[in-house]
Amino acid sequence: MLPKEHIRLGKVLGIPVQVDLSWILIFLWLSWSLAGGYFPRNYPHWSLGLYWLLGVLTSLLFFGSVLLHELGHSLVARSQGVPVRSITLFIFGGAAEITEEPSSPNREIAMALVGPGISVALGLIFMAIYALAGLFSEPVKAVALYLGGINISLGLFNLIPGFPLDGGRVLRAILWRAYGNLVIATQWATRVGQVVAYGFMVFGIVRAFTGDWIGGLWIAFIGLFLDGAARSAYMQMTLNNLLEGHVAAEVMTSDCLWVPPQLTLDLLVEHYILRQNRRCYLVGQPDHVLGLLTVHHVQQVPRANWPYTRVEQVLVPIERLRTVSLETPLREVLQHMTADGVNQLPVMDGGRLVGMVTRENLITFIQNRSLLSAK
Ligand SMILES: [Zn+2]
Repeated sequence: MLPKEHIRLGKVLGIPVQVDLSWILIFLWLSWSLAGGYFPRNYPHWSLGLYWLLGVLTSLLFFGSVLLHELGHSLVARSQGVPVRSITLFIFGGAAEITEEPSSPNREIAMALVGPGISVALGLIFMAIYALAGLFSEPVKAVALYLGGINISLGLFNLIPGFPLDGGRVLRAILWRAYGNLVIATQWATRVGQVVAYGFMVFGIVRAFTGDWIGGLWIAFIGLFLDGAARSAYMQMTLNNLLEGHVAAEVMTSDCLWVPPQLTLDLLVEHYILRQNRRCYLVGQPDHVLGLLTVHHVQQVPRANWPYTRVEQVLVPIERLRTVSLETPLREVLQHMTADGVNQLPVMDGGRLVGMVTRENLITFIQNRSLLSAK
C-alpha cells in the first residue's frame, strides 16, 4: 500500500514511478526561480511568456534527468536479480526503492556508479547541445547550458563518499571487500555520511548568516536530509542484522481467536472485540480458514448495519491474503508487512493456519534482542 502523499505517474520499463507531494513544491520553486530569476538575469531581452515556458520546460527536463539517473540504478539492480519496487521523485531529487542489499561488493559498485555516470553523461550531452545550438537558437542554448551544469553537479554531488549517497555506497563496497563484513562497512560508510551531512549543515548555516540565506538554508536542509538518510540506512541495517537467521515460527502467536462466519458484527463487537481486546480475528477453523477480519474492517460498516452484517460478508478471504510459512525469514515478513501496509500475516503450514505474526510480535522480538544485544 502506497502512502497517500505519493502520486503515481505510471510505469517505466515495468517500474512504477511516483512523485511525492514535496516534489510539486520543488518543481514550482525551480520553475519560478528559473522564469523569475535565472533566465531574466542572463537573457534580459526575452518575453515573460518565454521565461515561463522555458522555466517549466527546464524543470521538466531536469526531473526527467533525475528519473533517468534512478532508472539507471534500478535497471542494474534488476539485471542482478535485485527487485526494484518503485522510483519516487521528491524534494531532494529521486530515490529508487531497492529493498535488498546487493550480493557482492562489485555488484554494489556497478549499481551505485551507474546513476552518477548517467547524470554526468547527460550533462555532457546537454553541453554538446549548448555548443551546437549556440549557432542558431539562444533559448535552446540557455536551457541546454543550465541542464548541462545541473546534471554534472548532480552526478558529482552523488559521488561524495557519504552513505547513502551513491559515492557512499561505493565506499561501503570498497570497505566491504577489504573487511569482508557488510555490517562493519555500513557502519563506517554511514559515519562518513554523517560527517558529510554535518559539513553541509555547518556550511549552509555559515552561508545563511553571511548573506545568501535561501541558498544557505537549502544546503543546511540537504545536510539535515543526508543525516536522516544515513541514520535510517544504518538502522535498517541493524534491523536486518537482528532479524537475520530468524524465521516466522519463532515469533508467531498460536492463540488466534476464531470466530464463526455467520456471526453478526454487533455480536462480534460486543462479545469479542470489546472483551478480548484484539485487533484481528480469524474466521473459520484452523484446517479451513475462510479469512481474516480486523477492527478496521468493522469500522468501515455503518453502525446501524452491524446487526444485519455477517462476519463472512466483510472478511478478507484467505486467498487474497499474503501468507507466510513457518520458515519464512523474519526479514521477509517485515518487508511484506511494510509493502502491504498490514499489521499481521497468517502463518500457514501445508494449507493449515498455525498462527499469526503481528507487528507487535516483531517489535517485541527486535526490542528484546537489541536490548540484550543478542543475535
Ligand atoms: Zn544515485
